[in-house]
Amino acid sequence: MRTQVVIIGGGPSGMLLGQLLHRHGIDSVVLERRDRAHVLSRIRAGVLEQGLVGLLDAAGVADRLHREGFVHDGTNISMDGAMFRLDLTALAGKPVVVYGQTEVTRDLYDARAAAGLPLIDNAEGVAIHGVDGDRPEVSFTRHGIEHRISCDFVAGCDGFHGISRRTIPASVRQDYEKVYPFGWLGILSETPPVSHELIYAGSDAGFALCSMRNANLSRYYVQCAAMDRVEDWTDARFWAELRRRLPGDVADALVTGPSIEKSIAPLRSFVTEPMRWGRLFLVGDAAHIVPPTGAKGLNTAASDVHYLWQALVQHYCDNDSNGLNRYSEQALLRVWKAERFSWWLTTLLHRFPDQTGFDRRMQAAEIAFLRDNHAAQVAFAQNYVGLPY
Ligand SMILES: Cc1cc2nc3c(=O)[nH]c(=O)nc-3n(C[C@H](O)[C@H](O)[C@H](O)COP(=O)(O)OP(=O)(O)OC[C@H]3O[C@@H](n4cnc5c(N)ncnc54)[C@H](O)[C@@H]3O)c2cc1C
Repeated sequence: MRTQVVIIGGGPSGMLLGQLLHRHGIDSVVLERRDRAHVLSRIRAGVLEQGLVGLLDAAGVADRLHREGFVHDGTNISMDGAMFRLDLTALAGKPVVVYGQTEVTRDLYDARAAAGLPLIDNAEGVAIHGVDGDRPEVSFTRHGIEHRISCDFVAGCDGFHGISRRTIPASVRQDYEKVYPFGWLGILSETPPVSHELIYAGSDAGFALCSMRNANLSRYYVQCAAMDRVEDWTDARFWAELRRRLPGDVADALVTGPSIEKSIAPLRSFVTEPMRWGRLFLVGDAAHIVPPTGAKGLNTAASDVHYLWQALVQHYCDNDSNGLNRYSEQALLRVWKAERFSWWLTTLLHRFPDQTGFDRRMQAAEIAFLRDNHAAQVAFAQNYVGLPY
């Protein structure tokens, strides 16, 4: 089998890249380790920057998003019970859109199937060969039979635990990592969201986030200990802890119900450099991870897709490889800014085990500055709605 681009990973990065390439007549094969049902059962991101919305438009998969997504012109920050709103559209000229990552991925799977494009699921033992030369190949096993695909380029879109990043020799790669001493316990519940916009809440008891998926589906998180297990958290304990961390009037308005999903995510900042090795290009979580504070994970994956898509179109349509040569440098410039914002917001709103009284006062002062200072609000809003590509 032969194709122009082998895309490893059928998550949002890989599927979006494949769809954009298809719109420009560039062939790809997507190799996914799991099956569609598994990929679509993962509850993850939900806040989309306009840059990602624009890419979904360009890929021709945004109709349902425009019908069902919720445009949020603002977001709320609360510290120790006092809350203020930041008007994103007034401050940064654009809103964000709330539409679940699961729905984004579903739309992309549907579009790929409708176009009859190859997506090989249950691909086991995927391995990359010869990307440091001119004739790369990707091998895998499916239902016990070995296959090999030759290609021009490999896009490593296989997430943090994939094989693409590890294919780059350690002597070439530099990893940067910060692991936070806590996690996020998230639940999904079929209850109306407590607020029509997100609430990021810092408190003495720790961080909490009120988010949503639709008018009767809420997504809530509380900061938990790094070692906690889901079994440690009954629904009753979760709701009590969430209430404790929110302003009184918000806590009073909270509608609770049984959780339909409950999971714990560790918090980590991670970047690998470079994002290209020969004919292998890393995209999304394969190259970088952010803590979810500020919703930059999926959106930063999308900006990588943008740069690589543009570079491949330039290569195939204009016979110009400048974009491919600059991919890593260009993508990393934006990645590090998203890393900075999510690290800053995480540091600002969470309780750290070794925090002193002074550290807490610094958090409070920084929040007060954000509440009172227009320039600080503009900087926040520009980062939150997404820096330009
Ligand atoms: C629990 C959790 C909660 C999150 N919450 C948020 C949030 O609230 N906001 C936010 O912005 N971001 C969030 N993120 C981050 C966001 O979901 C990711 O940034 C986004 O999924 C990145 O997309 P991706 O396609 O690059 O990687 P993934 O979504 O990880 O997709 C990679 C795909 O590659 C496949 N794969 C892996 N290894 C192989 C292999 N060897 N061969 C073939 N296929 C392989 C995987 O099965 C997967 O389908 C969260 C992430 C997690 C894990």
